[in-house]
Amino acid sequence: MAKKPDTLWETPADEALRWERGTDLAALDHAATPGWAGKKGDGERLMAERAPELADLQERLFAHGRTGGDRSVLLVLQGMDTAGKGGIVRHVVGLVDPQGVMHRGFGVPTPEEREHGYLWRVRNALPRPGYLGVFDRSHHEQVLVVRVEGLEPEDTWRQHYDELNEFEAEVAASGILIVKVALFVSADEQKERLAERLDRPDKYWKYDPSDIDARTRLPEYLAAYQEMLDRTSTEVAPWYVVPANRKWYARLAATELLTGALRSLDLGWPPATFDIEAEKARLAAS
Ligand code: ATP
Repeated sequence: MAKKPDTLWETPADEALRWERGTDLAALDHAATPGWAGKKGDGERLMAERAPELADLQERLFAHGRTGGDRSVLLVLQGMDTAGKGGIVRHVVGLVDPQGVMHRGFGVPTPEEREHGYLWRVRNALPRPGYLGVFDRSHHEQVLVVRVEGLEPEDTWRQHYDELNEFEAEVAASGILIVKVALFVSADEQKERLAERLDRPDKYWKYDPSDIDARTRLPEYLAAYQEMLDRTSTEVAPWYVVPANRKWYARLAATELLTGALRSLDLGWPPATFDIEAEKARLAAS
């Protein structure tokens, strides 16, 4: 008899993927499937099974927000070009009702954004109670691209680690459960994915010549990601590091992390705030 797919998590995703300070990011096996003992087909079956549960949990969260609750969830996605952030949004976040999702991508700051501190645009994008917030890139770019591209002097960007942690502690204390997922593909896999963008007319729009510039600075990005993980993985906002060469695994892992986060809120359905029998009688008489 075929094994039930969810038994194939030998180690739960949140344990298998949680970043431990000091782990060598350069030694990450990008094709690995940490915690998961199954194959691609098993993973796809489990994702299909999780879909209704994830949708149900998100609807409970939404109902909670509509009835005065203060909880919400923020999924933070970090990763270089082609790491698959967009795929997670489409295939994982896409499993829930879009009406309950607040999605925000963080690109190069606009002139208006530059007039404020770097956390201004982030605060404005935080999910309201009951929502699932999704950040495609995030405030962490302040210690990634800003560091690697030399957009600020070192003693300035170095201060951001503590600021990011303080900010996230404040966000968590306000009722927002933070789930931070960093996706990593190997340099070869990135090359293949970029080559595909250059080969396919339906992918040209995704290609940005500056992606090649970032590729030439991979060692600098690796160092920046290493320090970001080591210094901003905290109790209230831990990083989960997902090897992403296998897209199906990255999506399965993100589904599992998100499902686990929503489950941990332990939200029931809000009780009726009206007299059910009286309303039934009114309806019948109407
Ligand atoms: P992605 O590359 O994430 O798939 P995209 O190609 O659509 O997205 P945008 O989202 O418009 O591009 O912008 C992403 C770019 O913005 C990245 O190159 C990123 O490094 C840059 N960026 C993000 N935050 C900052 C920041 N604080 N300062 C400078 N550049 C930033």
